[in-house]
Order: sequence, then structure tokens, then C-alpha cells
Amino acid sequence: MSKTKNYPKVIIVGRTNVGKSTIFNRLASSQKSIVFSRDGVTRDFVHEVIPWNSKTFDLIDTGGLPLKTPKESIDQHVKDSVLALVEKADLILFVCDIKSGLTELDQTFAKHLHKTKKPIFLLLNKSDNLTAAQENEHEFFALGLKKIFPISAIHNTGIRELLDAIAKQVESVKKLPEKPEYKVVILGKPNVGKSSLLNLLLKEQRAIVSHIAGTTREAISELLSFQHQTIQLTDTAGVRRKGKVGDPLELFMVKSSLEAVRTSDIIIIMIDSTYGELADQELKLLFYAFENKKSVILLLNKTDILEEHKKEALEYDLENYDFFLKKIPILRTSCKTEKNVGKVMQEVEKAYKRRTQKFDEEQVNEILKLAVIKRPMYHKTLLLKVMHIKPAKGPIPTFIIYVNYPQWFGPTQLGYLENVLRRNFDLIGCPVLLIPRRV
Ligand code: GDP
Ligand code: GDP
Repeated sequence: MSKTKNYPKVIIVGRTNVGKSTIFNRLASSQKSIVFSRDGVTRDFVHEVIPWNSKTFDLIDTGGLPLKTPKESIDQHVKDSVLALVEKADLILFVCDIKSGLTELDQTFAKHLHKTKKPIFLLLNKSDNLTAAQENEHEFFALGLKKIFPISAIHNTGIRELLDAIAKQVESVKKLPEKPEYKVVILGKPNVGKSSLLNLLLKEQRAIVSHIAGTTREAISELLSFQHQTIQLTDTAGVRRKGKVGDPLELFMVKSSLEAVRTSDIIIIMIDSTYGELADQELKLLFYAFENKKSVILLLNKTDILEEHKKEALEYDLENYDFFLKKIPILRTSCKTEKNVGKVMQEVEKAYKRRTQKFDEEQVNEILKLAVIKRPMYHKTLLLKVMHIKPAKGPIPTFIIYVNYPQWFGPTQLGYLENVLRRNFDLIGCPVLLIPRRV
């Protein structure tokens, strides 16, 4: 399966008995899809990778819909099962039976398919002889579909033309890698605007590759494309509504969130600025994320309804944590007016670049050694020496520091060296790892 994932997806849909499986078999030239002549036989979706005219696509047969189901449940069924697949398709082959003419069910189908705004080919199957086909064809014009193919799956007529047209259509489909380059999580208290932000970002990028049905039901992940990179974005909405709150971190850190945080690279922490403060939990969350080697971005949301006195209170509160907050990027946003929402992905991209930047060894040595000369470090009366610094490979900027007494390089000493690095390189919002080692 995984190898086929990246081919453009062509999906065959239509009510039962119009000939979907027969068409599938014709196109796939195999007997993989079992043909039934009874109504309402449920089948699993089958698929086959098909090369044609030096293009390759993944053909999916959605099986049948029971014909004699009450209308409401048909609607539901169409929505739930087929549409979920259709959402992922690059081209829809909508099959109707020209012999039986246009039915109400065909129209229901067409209505739902139209909504997806995907390219649709209308296949008028069972056009076994041309005169009969021409007589009934006009009925189907009512569906408003432009690309119509009269075919006969049984007699193999119109199939080549159809394959040519499919190959041409999928040519323009550029598949993004399904594996994201990096992962971003949006965290925050309930109602701060996380879902609103996720929806805005997806709308703005207009490049939802797929909806990832996660292992957990609570966290929603989407893939989106930004600057030619595939990024996974997770909204942790839903996780906290359950919540009895013990440890403040648990408010956010329940199962799926915790997992999302653990596997992510960048964490967007969103707060509701109208509260006029950075809550204790939010601050802890920022520390927690940063300490766990995540890049963090702080969003102060709902600035559209932020009153002046609350704004002052918030700025005053932020100042208290300046020692930490000056290390991270802060955006003042409104999901309502969309103020600065356009900057969020830019900030995310910058954060990723900072995480993955390369450092020049010579330059790093020059800067850090000079800093140590300017301000020598001691443990009691022992002079702590830094002999050499080596940038190392890692998920975040990592430096091996060769020293005389690694055991005495504690938070104070390492913190000092880290701050020197921060002053000299672009490391805002980016964690840094310093590993002292004996020469
Ligand atoms: P599905 O339920 O849409 O997958 O339909 P099937 O592929 O199972 O076909 C339903 C019936 O229509 C079967 O008896 C097929 O043999 C028949 N059928 C399929 N294509 C054609 C065609 O081009 N012409 C005619 N006359 N019958 C067809
Ligand atoms: P979540 O629980 O964090 O996912 O928050 P939602 O995205 O569901 O938003 C909670 C409520 O706040 C909704 O009624 C949103 O319409 C509203 N909201 C979100 N962002 C803003 C904003 O920037 N300004 C204003 N005025 N309302 C917002």
C-alpha cells in the first residue's frame, strides 16, 4: 500500500448496479473486483495501480450503495463512506446507467460530488449501442457535468478514450510527500481560538493534502503545504473538555496532547489576551515545551476585543517573564479579523529553519572563547576552561563543549554560554543543547 500512496487517486462512484466493478475491471484489466448482479451487495473498496500513457494512477472502486434504502440514510451513507474517500481523490469517475436513465439517486450523488469541487468525469455506462446512447444522453445534461463519456464496460467501447482522458487529467496532479517534513502542534486552554486558527491556516494555504485520522480521536492533524514543504499541523482541541485538573500541566498534557507534543518539532502556544495575563499553566507549558527541546511560538489571540487596561496588564505581566519570553517569538493575533494570522506560518517556517541551521565551527569557537576570556568561569577557586566547541548533529542546534571539568559545568555556566550563542546567532524560540565533555 505505502508505495501506491503517492499516485494520483481516481475514484469510481455511483449507485449500485450501474457497472462500477465492471468498469474497474476493464480499466485494471484484471478480475480483482468481484462483479455481482444483485443490488445491495456490500463490498470492500478495492484499488489497483494503473499505468497508462506513461502516467500512473491509483484506481479505487467504492463498491455499491443499497438501492432500496430510505433517502435520509442514503444521504448519510453517501456522506460518510464514499465522501470520505472522495475527499482524498484527485479525479472522480461518476458512473450512471444510460439504460435505466437518470434516477433520483444519481442526482443525490451528483449533488454531493459537486460540493467537493473535484474534477468529475460522468461515465454513461451501458451505452452498448450508439443510437440508444444518443437518445438518453440529454437527460444527464441536467447534472451539469461537462466531461461526459458514453462507454460500455461489457463491450469495451469508449474505454481507451476514457483512459487517455484520465491520464491527461492526472498529469497536472502534483503529489506532496505524505510524510511531513516537520510537525507543529497548537496548544492552549479551551476557547482561546485554537480550532479557529487551524481552520484559518488551512483555508489560507488551500493545500490540505489529507486529513489524518489519528490513532487518538481527540487531536486533529492536517497536512498542509507551505513554501514547498509538507507540514503536519495538530490542533489539540477536545482533549481538555474532559478535564478534571490536577497538575496544571495535565490540563494540556492529557494523552493525545502529550503524544502530539512529544513527537512535534514546533509548538504554538495560544492564549486569550483578554484575560490580561499569562496564566501559571500557560507559562509552565511554555517552559515544559522549551525544556523538551521544542521550538515555541507564543500567540496572544483575540486582540480585536482586547481592552486598553487589559492590554496594559498583559504587557506588564509579560515583562515579569522577560528573562524567558525574550527568547521566543510572540505574535499578537485575531482569528476574527485575521490580524497577523498570515504571519503564523511564516513564523513557523522561521522556527524550523532556526532549528535546522548549520553552524560554522570556527565562528562558534571564536565567539564562545572570546566570551569566556571576557568573563572567566569558576567553580569555587577552580578556573573552568573551554578548550573547543564542536557543533554536532541533532534535531536542534547542539554543541559539544570540550572542557577541563565537565562536572562543574552546571546550569549557570551552560546558561551563560547559551546566552552568548543566542546573542550572536538567530536562535529566537529555538532550544539549544550544550553538552560538556572532558577534553
Ligand atoms: P456496480 O454495482 O456498479 O459495481 O455494478 P457491476 O459492475 O456489478 O455491474 C452490474 C451489472 O451491470 C452486471 O450484471 C454487469 O454485467 C452489468 N453491466 C456492467 N457494464 C455493462 C455494460 O456496459 N453494458 C451492459 N449491458 N451491462 C453492463
Ligand atoms: P479552542 O477551544 O481553543 O479551539 O477555541 P475556538 O477556536 O473554538 O474558539 C473559541 C471561541 O472564541 C469561538 O467562539 C471563536 O469564534 C472565538 N474566537 C477565536 N478567536 C477569536 C479572536 O481572535 N477574536 C474573537 N473576538 N473571538 C475569537
